Amino acid sequence: MQTMNRHIGIVGGGPGGLLLARLLQRRGVKVTVLERDSHAAERPQGGSLDLHDETGQKAMQAAGLEDAFMACARPEDQGDRLYDETGRLIFDHDGHGMNRPEIDRGDLRRILLESLRPGTVRWSQRVRGVTVSGKKVSVLCPDGPELYDVVIGADGAWSRVRPFLTEIGPAYAGVVFLELGFEEKRDPHPATLVGRGKMFAVGDNRALILQRNGGGHIRFYAGMRMAEEAALALREVSPKSARAHMAQNFSSWSPDLRRLLAEGDFLGVRPLYAMPIGTKWRAHPAVMLLGDAAHLMSPFSGEGVNLALADALDLANALMKENGMTSLQDYEAVLISRAERAAMRAASGLAKVFSSHGAAPVLAHYQERLAGG
Ligand SMILES: Cc1cc2nc3c(=O)[nH]c(=O)nc-3n(C[C@H](O)[C@H](O)[C@H](O)COP(=O)(O)OP(=O)(O)OC[C@H]3O[C@@H](n4cnc5c(N)ncnc54)[C@H](O)[C@@H]3O)c2cc1C
Repeated sequence: MQTMNRHIGIVGGGPGGLLLARLLQRRGVKVTVLERDSHAAERPQGGSLDLHDETGQKAMQAAGLEDAFMACARPEDQGDRLYDETGRLIFDHDGHGMNRPEIDRGDLRRILLESLRPGTVRWSQRVRGVTVSGKKVSVLCPDGPELYDVVIGADGAWSRVRPFLTEIGPAYAGVVFLELGFEEKRDPHPATLVGRGKMFAVGDNRALILQRNGGGHIRFYAGMRMAEEAALALREVSPKSARAHMAQNFSSWSPDLRRLLAEGDFLGVRPLYAMPIGTKWRAHPAVMLLGDAAHLMSPFSGEGVNLALADALDLANALMKENGMTSLQDYEAVLISRAERAAMRAASGLAKVFSSHGAAPVLAHYQERLAGG
């Protein structure tokens, strides 16, 4: 059956799933997005994302959304600063020459949602899994199974579509984040540290990270190595206790940096997980994966959303081709090798930030990047 005559179900209305829906809908394909959230504003969408020219930006262009993206993007927020644990600034770059404009996640999701026909996204659809029945794929939705010709798992880290294709799932990456939010107007201190973009303060197996978002908002992550059990337990304690526990682990750091842990609004505790690098799955003509569902990685390559958008573009192109399974296998081969390279960078980035060598490996990384390495 040609793609034009098929009904495609996309599980997950994150950046990858929504962009795929947009690309297919523009080509006349019937598409439904099944999203767990009850409405677009149910939960804050998280920090700022930078879109890279060869992946995220290219995918937005292919969807005819580059103007909408540029209208909300912040090219002025591409700077990088690095401090050591004494609070000494050891690297400061204002971001000139970079082409990775930042955009708030909420803005990106809104642009993608507004680009779809009304009713494309069905909210409150927490999918429990998929099975195949005859030539159809059955999606287990809250009100019972629904049948589609093709189903795409774009449902992120804890995908319920992935188990149909592989038994492999995410493994703990060894690091936990405590996440806080600041408003520049209320508290100018983080803004003076972060400058225009991001800052890392790196010490012995620990890091404090600030990231400038739109509208004067600044996101803060305190990260450290911790066993998985302890990280999961930290998620269960009160915000006050989680903050105090983390602060204890930074007690030898400069007061200026440590202050960050006492201030700001509590946003959560986030243990980091990643799929094993290079994970492959069984090919199926009617069930596919994209984005984090396929290749979750730690955020230290800064490529997760870019890969999700690039996957969506490649998958839309593959689905429109006449040679069915062959082009889908080509899609999966491209996706897997592209993600494998990024996941290696993410794993090496995490190892540089959380090492017993303090800020030196991160400084070397920034200097290499400036020198074009
Ligand atoms: C702390 C942190 C910082 C990051 N920073 C960056 C960065 O700077 N740059 C970058 O490129 N990437 C970054 N990432 C990674 C990036 O957020 C992800 O790679 C990206 O969001 C993946 O997009 P996606 O569409 O595949 O999945 P998601 O964004 O996870 O979207 C999945 C969607 O599926 C829905 N869903 C989940 N389960 C179900 C279900 N059972 N049924 C129906 N719907 C479901 C969810 O509600 C969600 O809307 C970061 C990640 C973290 C954790």
